[in-house]
Amino acid sequence: MTATTRALVYLAPDQPLADRTLTLGAPRPGEVQVRLRASGVCHSDLHSRDGDWGTPTPIVLGHEGAGVVERVGEGVRDVVPGDHVVLAWAAPCRRCRHCVAGKAWACRNNRCEDNLLPDGTARLAMDGEPVLQHIGLGTFSERAVVAESAVIPLPKEIPWDVASLLGCGVATGVGAVFNSAQVRPGDAVAVIGCGGVGLSAVMGARAAGAHPVIAIDLSPEKLALAEELGATHTVLGGDDPAAVVAAVRDIVDDGVDHAFECAGHPATMSLSTAVLGVGGTAVLVGMPPSGTKFALDPLALSMSGQRVVGCTYGASVPAVDFPRLARLYLAGLLPVGELISHRIGLGEVDQALDALRRRERARSVVMFD
Ligand SMILES: [Zn+2]
Ligand SMILES: [Zn+2]
Repeated sequence: MTATTRALVYLAPDQPLADRTLTLGAPRPGEVQVRLRASGVCHSDLHSRDGDWGTPTPIVLGHEGAGVVERVGEGVRDVVPGDHVVLAWAAPCRRCRHCVAGKAWACRNNRCEDNLLPDGTARLAMDGEPVLQHIGLGTFSERAVVAESAVIPLPKEIPWDVASLLGCGVATGVGAVFNSAQVRPGDAVAVIGCGGVGLSAVMGARAAGAHPVIAIDLSPEKLALAEELGATHTVLGGDDPAAVVAAVRDIVDDGVDHAFECAGHPATMSLSTAVLGVGGTAVLVGMPPSGTKFALDPLALSMSGQRVVGCTYGASVPAVDFPRLARLYLAGLLPVGELISHRIGLGEVDQALDALRRRERARSVVMFD
């Protein structure tokens, strides 16, 4: 049985997202149909929208979703209709050596980078032609059919808007702190770039017991929000990186143990290494356009025994980490709701992306009826 779904289709960079009714194929074996209730608007949607990553079209963007299971395909055992789930965009195969070793984020045995389901097809179609699903999801849509390993059950008391953010921005920022850096209580932390992911890193650093937690951004408003979410100090960025480094060293004179680069810009990547103390680690979390390079002082890095590590999806294992994030939220240790600055309708995604491009708004979340 074929269903339909209202969805936003990205056709070309110079056109608004097209509000269309698409056909939605039934879930095949190992797939799950979800009725979306909320979808965050993430910076990766903007990169795709702006052509930074050569995203193919037509495609339904959106990859930060939560909703209710409506139907399950043959053989699905993890969920049943009615379950509340958050979606994971890197649906792990659960069989490859990375998955078996507990590194689900490293799984390449899926087709999410091609914006397809694991079997290499998509369930969406427009005028009989297939429509891609952003990173295997496509949550700017009332419904989505996704891989079974992409749906993670959550407690029903988690609000939908909060649940959606657990699936990308929060998983990425908090996971960078817990998984990539393994921050310990009392470690000194700097977070550079206070969008949704950076603010999540601030929350994670606070939850991990880091001190100080220094938030760095170009926007006084975002720094104020960072303080509400757990930053102990703030540094207003600017054109002079040396001044930012000096301001950080005024707070921690020998530099920080961990710096989280959450802006995805070459200048802040370099800055993330410059604020480190001896033995410190810079974690590159922000996603730049393809082909970006940044300047690094290799002698200083070697002499100080520092590390620069990449981080995708907060090095998360969704089935393990998403329920952990939900528990931390319920315990009051991750005030995710504070991240949400705008709750919008599906027709307002383009405006939310425009705001993100202007570095405005912490997080906009589409709320479905
Ligand atoms: Zn995202
Ligand atoms: Zn795998």
